[in-house]
Amino acid sequence: MVVVLEKNISDKQIEDVIKHLEDFGFDVHKSTGVEQIVLGAIGVKPDFDTRKVKILDGVAEVYRITDPFKLASRTFQNYDTTITIKDVTIGGDQVVVMAGPCSVESEKQIFTLAEAVAKSGARILRGGAFKPRSSPYSFQGLGEEGLKLMRKAADEFNLVVITEVMENAQIELIQEYADIFQVGARNMQNYSLLKELGKVDTPVMLKRGLSATIEEWLMSAEYILSSGNKNVMVCERGIRTFETYTRNTFDLSSIPVVQKKSHLPIIADPSHAVGLRDKVIPMARAAVAAGADGIMVEIHNDPDKALSDGPQALLPEQFFDLMKQAKLIAEAIGRTL
Ligand code: PEP
Ligand code: MN
Repeated sequence: MVVVLEKNISDKQIEDVIKHLEDFGFDVHKSTGVEQIVLGAIGVKPDFDTRKVKILDGVAEVYRITDPFKLASRTFQNYDTTITIKDVTIGGDQVVVMAGPCSVESEKQIFTLAEAVAKSGARILRGGAFKPRSSPYSFQGLGEEGLKLMRKAADEFNLVVITEVMENAQIELIQEYADIFQVGARNMQNYSLLKELGKVDTPVMLKRGLSATIEEWLMSAEYILSSGNKNVMVCERGIRTFETYTRNTFDLSSIPVVQKKSHLPIIADPSHAVGLRDKVIPMARAAVAAGADGIMVEIHNDPDKALSDGPQALLPEQFFDLMKQAKLIAEAIGRTL
């Protein structure tokens, strides 16, 4: 931690700041510049609250130089984490594609879409059985029936299943049917759920919260990792900003930022980020170009009648086009798809 002192600080105040830092357990190194004195405080604990120093008399600025997350960081593990489910590897050279409806609605719907996913060459089927809807009056998902239908459709077309878990009590049930747990944006800071997911081995994809900083998001991943589950990937799905022309703002820059800070695979979800069908393909292409390890895209065969998120769902033909384009982009940056 670097502590910059105020220009007009008195000797007594300097001594006092140093004494506080030592009492907090730091080794203190003082360097005197032309205008200001800077203290280097060595030995910051991950949970140290820097405000304890910011409020001391004579302190101008405090900068943390180590990240508060450990297991998720590249300092802890320099090589990329890869997660293998059946014959699909996430986080390797291949860019993975997860596609399917927002919600599982019926046997016919999920079989039609699973067939489209398989035909496109993608290997992971997405679909919600338990839906976190903004309104309690909106469709809440088919529950266990939805899980059963999705598993059946995925097995028919040799696909891997990802579906959302919303609460601790659903973990066991969902584990019977799914290969990857999705933690939705609204649950990114449900620490009790994150800790429980840390006790299983099933891979978890942790979506970024609607207004979470990248650090908060990686700290949430840290909850799962520190509880024992190393099979964690994160997913950028757009954040809430002042912009209203799109549903959220797609923070593409989080992809290289996360990759620099963390070894965890990063998936990008342009569907929830932009919320409008015509903007999903360009942003999916951009995500692949930015280096995402995978993309998650919502598709629907009859989006006008979809029970959730129809306006952002691609038609199967549009999705096939996207797959062709994304493949070319992946190859241009030395990856496969
Ligand atoms: C979803 O994937 O359907 C979903 C609800 O995502 P998010 O949590 O990103 O809103
Ligand atoms: Mn959705």
